[in-house]
Amino acid sequence: MKALLPLCLSLALLHLTSHAQKKKPWKGQAPIKTVNTATKPVQKQYKGVFELSNGVYCSNDFAGARLNGVVANNDTLVTILITPENTPINFSPWYAFKIWAKTPKSVYVKITYPERVRHRYYPKVSDDGKTWRGLHPRRYFPGKAIKAKGSRALPAEVTMRLNLTKQPLWVAAQELITSKDANTWGDKLSKLPFVTKTVIGKSREGRPLHLLKIGQANDKKMIMVLSRQHPPEVTGYLCMQSFIETICSDHPIAKKFRKVYNTYLVPMVNPDGVDNGHWRHSTGGIDLNRDWQAANQPETQAVQKFMREIKARKGGKFYFGVDFHSTWEDIYYTVDPKLKGNMPGLVPKMIKAAAAEIPRYTPNIKPSMGNDGRYLTSARYFFWKHQAEALTFEIGDHTPRPLIKKKGKFSALKLMELMLKAQ
Ligand SMILES: [Zn+2]
Repeated sequence: MKALLPLCLSLALLHLTSHAQKKKPWKGQAPIKTVNTATKPVQKQYKGVFELSNGVYCSNDFAGARLNGVVANNDTLVTILITPENTPINFSPWYAFKIWAKTPKSVYVKITYPERVRHRYYPKVSDDGKTWRGLHPRRYFPGKAIKAKGSRALPAEVTMRLNLTKQPLWVAAQELITSKDANTWGDKLSKLPFVTKTVIGKSREGRPLHLLKIGQANDKKMIMVLSRQHPPEVTGYLCMQSFIETICSDHPIAKKFRKVYNTYLVPMVNPDGVDNGHWRHSTGGIDLNRDWQAANQPETQAVQKFMREIKARKGGKFYFGVDFHSTWEDIYYTVDPKLKGNMPGLVPKMIKAAAAEIPRYTPNIKPSMGNDGRYLTSARYFFWKHQAEALTFEIGDHTPRPLIKKKGKFSALKLMELMLKAQ
């Protein structure tokens, strides 16, 4: 046994050394920390209707809701508490609730968070949970902006003035788009003759992970698209929809593209997080976009298994992989242009060509896939595991919705054009 140990060790070292030598050096990139993605507990919300002493009612009894506590301070003031599913957690405090009153009245509704958390999302309101509008600025009273560690200056609490009636008013951090909505959208697309919808696995709580196949090619050439690993990132989802609808369109480029390339889409990688109104994590209590190396969670496992198996079965390649997210502003996280995947230069060319279609728009590009071959994130997994040209497509929280659509559309058109030219 003693004699074996040094041999194992030296083999391991040899492996590490040869692995390291294959990679080119990379300067200026801070090392990304590996995160333990073993399952952790999450705190469930008490779901129901809250009847307050001032004749106001609140409900979190719907998919995507988040309201952790509510109290009537007086006849015209209601204070709501919003907390995350677990900690530590990134800064994306999602909220969504319904509110109404026994008799019509105007009330002030204050949204509060745990200490050191700051308000991030400008409130949206809706009469039916489907059509949303920004709260009128004259009804919005943010508290004093405070600089918190690691964040920008934002208020710790905000107050809204709402005219309540018997008819529930929906209030949410962004437009509410749940797993059911994504499923309905997928069903609609799958009526097209070249779109099929299947299930590639189940989330921790048993929700189906849907996969859409777009195209009638032979799977030798494929692209992979993901969205909603992070529940509140609705603007990224909206861009993904526009991107996919363009690939499904009657545009001559799209028609040609679908004969050569098949597009695979998992529109909602984290349906549990979305339907439970999480700030960021899955019901495994984990940031799924840090689980692509360890693949401890069923959601990441399902996507990886699908990509591995279709390649093995059909002998094809993934040429492009994109994961749609949201953050403070529009950013493209790309692979270092010096690193070559299956279609070198594709992503920078696509970004440049798409940006040229949008007046007065300069894209914000950050190469950030690292050079160590590790794939904590989905985009790194696309690149390092499948050599797919990879992109994390980030849309700003407050990017105007028509501009989001435009970006999705032109990105898809330019991508398809470039990929057809390159083959
Ligand atoms: Zn994200």
